[in-house]
Amino acid sequence: MKAKILVVGGGIGGLVAAYRLLQKKYAVTLVEKNSELGGLLGAFKIGGTYLEKSYHHIFKTDKYIIELIKELGLEKKLKWHEAKTAIYYKKKIYPFAGAIDLLKFEPLNLIDKLRLGFVKIYLEKENNWKKFENVLAYEWMKKWCGNNAYKVIWEPLLRGKFGKEYKKVSMAWMWARIHTRANSSEKGKEYLGYLDGGFQQIIDELKRRILKLGGKIELNTNLPPRELGTSLEEGRLKDFNRIISSAPLEKVDYLGAVTMVFTSKQNLSRYYWHNINDDKSPFLALIQHTNLEDKKKYGNKHVYYLGTYLPHNHRYFKFGDKIVEKEFFSYLKKILPNFNEEKVLKKWVFKFKYAQHVVDVGYRRRIEKYRHGKGKIIYMNFAQIYPEDRGINYAVREGERVSKLFEN
Ligand SMILES: Cc1cc2nc3c(=O)[nH]c(=O)nc-3n(C[C@H](O)[C@H](O)[C@H](O)COP(=O)(O)OP(=O)(O)OC[C@H]3O[C@@H](n4cnc5c(N)ncnc54)[C@H](O)[C@@H]3O)c2cc1C
Repeated sequence: MKAKILVVGGGIGGLVAAYRLLQKKYAVTLVEKNSELGGLLGAFKIGGTYLEKSYHHIFKTDKYIIELIKELGLEKKLKWHEAKTAIYYKKKIYPFAGAIDLLKFEPLNLIDKLRLGFVKIYLEKENNWKKFENVLAYEWMKKWCGNNAYKVIWEPLLRGKFGKEYKKVSMAWMWARIHTRANSSEKGKEYLGYLDGGFQQIIDELKRRILKLGGKIELNTNLPPRELGTSLEEGRLKDFNRIISSAPLEKVDYLGAVTMVFTSKQNLSRYYWHNINDDKSPFLALIQHTNLEDKKKYGNKHVYYLGTYLPHNHRYFKFGDKIVEKEFFSYLKKILPNFNEEKVLKKWVFKFKYAQHVVDVGYRRRIEKYRHGKGKIIYMNFAQIYPEDRGINYAVREGERVSKLFEN
């Protein structure tokens, strides 16, 4: 009989690992600490349609998730939409989706724009990311893009994603963010992929196939926190030959994420994605989801997200949802003066504790010990994805990688 394997975590990565191992005829049990599968990609329903609790789209370069979508028979639902991106800066919203928008972008002068353009081309063409590993992103971007472009474009991005930790972030992370997206444009336009009816359909289909192949799924089961290592021979863990864990890693610093979703009859913007480049804003991005997916799917209502990344000790994690609603809406009125809170139909706040790892200088050494694939426990947390920015594509790649460590 083939080995018994325990998969810890029912996010997309753990589900892919479990599915592949069942295909190889291993006996697989998957445990998930929450009451639902999906992890960071988890969803709820609006008007009968799944919506991710945190905004999600994919890029044309995301080949692992695109292949999985095809394999699961969901290909027809994958729709590509021209990215309608904008930047909010000093009380104005500017389109920011390509070279023409950059040329028209008022907050930067011509020299800034040329430098920005050259840096982007250089990072897109440069393949050797290792030379950026020990370089600080904020210093490098400031040096090569110039202080103005750094302050207007890059510092808000770094601050938004990493909060107070932003000065620690490695240039390898920034390289990956720009480099991997280089080929997702066609004729100067970027396209974003969304699964018509929600990415949760991937989670549902993986679950269905896992159960059909005889796999076991246990929800509300928190198997031991963090490292797992301490009690490997105790309790029920001793019943398994190998353990694959997508639980958070001990040696890594994580930020949490807070998102607020709301529906309204008001059509607030022409754009899908708005970077809020303003350090006073309590959220870093405003997303009008119904500029990507048709509002008919959600009972003819517009769907919006406001989202941010925050340290675990932030007050938003300590107190209830009301404070998030109050502060987010109050700032939204400054960004979109025509926004009327009274026209909000419904709102939801979601909090994720382990949402983004801080990719600092020397990060590769920090995660090295988790990557060996030997011993009883195999790690596949999203924080091991490096230098790429974590995303569902790479979670699928991790699931495929760990399953390949097992014989056919
Ligand atoms: C705000 C936000 C926006 C995002 N937008 C995008 C996007 O647009 N495009 C994109 O590609 N990606 C996006 N991502 C990232 C993407 O969601 C993740 O990279 C991906 O879902 C990670 O999958 P995973 O399975 O590796 O990890 P997770 O989804 O974190 O799954 C891990 C699972 O393990 C469970 N678990 C942890 N510890 C234990 C334990 N001890 N016992 C049992 N269970 C445990 C957790 O509850 C969780 O369900 C976004 C993430 C966030 C937070």
